[in-house]
Amino acid sequence: MTGGSCHCGTVRFTVPAPPVEVTECHCSICTKLGSLCCYYPPDQFAITQGEAELSIYQWGDRLLDFRFCSRCSAMIGWRIHPGLEEECYPGRVGAKVGVNARLIDGIDARTLPRRVIDGPPD
Ligand SMILES: [Zn+2]
Repeated sequence: MTGGSCHCGTVRFTVPAPPVEVTECHCSICTKLGSLCCYYPPDQFAITQGEAELSIYQWGDRLLDFRFCSRCSAMIGWRIHPGLEEECYPGRVGAKVGVNARLIDGIDARTLPRRVIDGPPD
């Protein structure tokens, strides 16, 4: 088990293990955010502190909730908007959440193997 936090420390989360690779996505929002993401099954990602301080941004088809610390604006990651799992990943309910690997403790996301993609992962 490891975890991470936003810049100001208001939001903390846990993941089962550090990522072994990161994804640099070149879709319109990930380009703007500059995030490096990694993915976990939804039940293996938990917000452990500051959930009430999260702000949510949706765009386009509104399938994904991009979640930010409302104090320091760090992008924590994204989840499929609750109730839209089947529409987003047919037959694979709740397939994954995206986590901003740059926020995970004890790693340097820049040094991990990087997968470059042009849109949301399968
Ligand atoms: Zn913060």
